[in-house]
Amino acid sequence: MPEIEKITRDGYDVIVAGAGNAALSAAIAARESGASVLVLEKAPRAARGGNSYFTGGLVRFPFSGIDNVEELIDPLSDDERGLIDLPPYSEESLYADLMRISEGMADAELSGTLVQNARPTLSWLRSHGVRWVLAYGRQSYKVDGRFKFWGGLPVEAVGAGDGLVDSLFEATDAMGVDIAYGTMADGLELAADGSIKGVFMRGPDGKSRVACSAIVLACGGFEANPEMRARYLGPGWDLATVRGTQYNTGDGLRMGIQAGAQVAGHFSGCHAVAWDASAPKFGDRKIGDLFQKHSYPLGLIVNKAGERFVDEGADFRNFTYAKYGKEILNQPGRIAFQVFDQQVIDMLRDEYRIKEVAKAESDTIRGLAEAFDIDADSLDQTVSDYNNAVQETAYDPAVLDGKGTIGITPPKSNWALKLDKPPFVGFAVTCGITFTFGGLKINRHAQVIDTQERPIRGLYAAGELAGGLWYENYPGGSGLTAGAVFGRIAGAHAAGLSAG
Ligand SMILES: Cc1cc2nc3c(=O)[nH]c(=O)nc-3n(C[C@H](O)[C@H](O)[C@H](O)COP(=O)(O)OP(=O)(O)OC[C@H]3O[C@@H](n4cnc5c(N)ncnc54)[C@H](O)[C@@H]3O)c2cc1C
Repeated sequence: MPEIEKITRDGYDVIVAGAGNAALSAAIAARESGASVLVLEKAPRAARGGNSYFTGGLVRFPFSGIDNVEELIDPLSDDERGLIDLPPYSEESLYADLMRISEGMADAELSGTLVQNARPTLSWLRSHGVRWVLAYGRQSYKVDGRFKFWGGLPVEAVGAGDGLVDSLFEATDAMGVDIAYGTMADGLELAADGSIKGVFMRGPDGKSRVACSAIVLACGGFEANPEMRARYLGPGWDLATVRGTQYNTGDGLRMGIQAGAQVAGHFSGCHAVAWDASAPKFGDRKIGDLFQKHSYPLGLIVNKAGERFVDEGADFRNFTYAKYGKEILNQPGRIAFQVFDQQVIDMLRDEYRIKEVAKAESDTIRGLAEAFDIDADSLDQTVSDYNNAVQETAYDPAVLDGKGTIGITPPKSNWALKLDKPPFVGFAVTCGITFTFGGLKINRHAQVIDTQERPIRGLYAAGELAGGLWYENYPGGSGLTAGAVFGRIAGAHAAGLSAG
């Protein structure tokens, strides 16, 4: 089947570049508003869905408690509901987290729009066939027989990212959205007045052009482009492993800037995590996000010199994981090791139990060091210093328990159990880049703003490509929500443009 066969018209009301969560949300919203819609997906059909495909499908939104969350998810039994402890997460808390995590730099208007629209947008996705469930495995600990949820992030898509994008594609197919696979948006055609009038494309049959009234650029950041990574993020970033799709190479940024767009966001910043040291260069569609190693708050992280270099318990995992990849990139050989003992081994997330894992086990810390070629004397000393520094207060992995260390640098501020119950188990991790923070400047209608502070008529951006929300760090589960919120807004606004 020629991949381009689904372009059925000479022109469309709305063209969407990309076929991830933000793009498909835009396509559904535009079609729902009556527009004819074409989606251009640079990847072949078999690799469709962008980074969104690789996600855990976790989504951040405000809620008042389990009853309120239940309106969104598959029904719970009475028994199930009775075992859940879910602290509320208000709109104010979400807004405060967006500001706290970005060190006050997040765009206030975009953050407010995200907070207000998060929950209604996830309901809207549900109305289009996306199913949500409680994320027991990743966001709760079983304490005294009860599921204690933490981190303000209790919900994930059924089937994770794979399930999410499948549902979105089913919706676009059912609504009559055309999709051209293996076909990239390559340039924007502007009318004399500066508004959008068409898109230049590159597909299996070469270059072509389609007319449109509006285009939504939702074609990702530049995380899969080593040249741009080195240029914007700095030396060494060209060597990072990419967690997701190989197709997000900064095309949207290039097209937008060429059309006169202003940029926004933290251009030298990105989301990057601890990722299995043996993982391939780009994401593996069978493994998905399971190369990530997110249980480090339960143990210690050391480098090849046997030294700790971050506070593993600084905050809930959701609020530290996205900035710790950079710390690992800065270590000798761009490698680090997470070390656990038998007290916590059963609490490690599912991703530690796959067979594709760089793992070693030993009855002694020295044995573990030798297995990974870590400086053994140094690691022995580090663990002994740490054990001596641990405060003997109450331990609770589901709250910030304040069980920290005294007198060592860096400290471990919460969940500091002594590492003294062998066998010790270690996992080798490197830096896996997820997505980049710099992008095109948009307003609350997702319209792209030019360098004279005016919206470019007919040009929209959403998802990773829109800058201004993330600086220095990122609250887990916000990317999918933000992509859906601004994708939906962009699609509806773009459709309105063609109607009017
Ligand atoms: C392993 C992993 C796990 C994650 N887990 C979560 C999670 O649980 N929750 C969460 O909120 N976020 C998570 N994220 C982050 C999340 O993936 C992003 O925030 C979100 O998916 C971005 O959506 P998007 O639609 O902007 O981009 P993408 O989903 O990456 O879509 C971009 C699309 O654009 C296409 N494209 C690129 N260039 C062009 C072009 N020139 N023309 C046409 N198409 C083009 C790509 O092929 C792709 O289809 C995770 C990311 C990874 C990699």
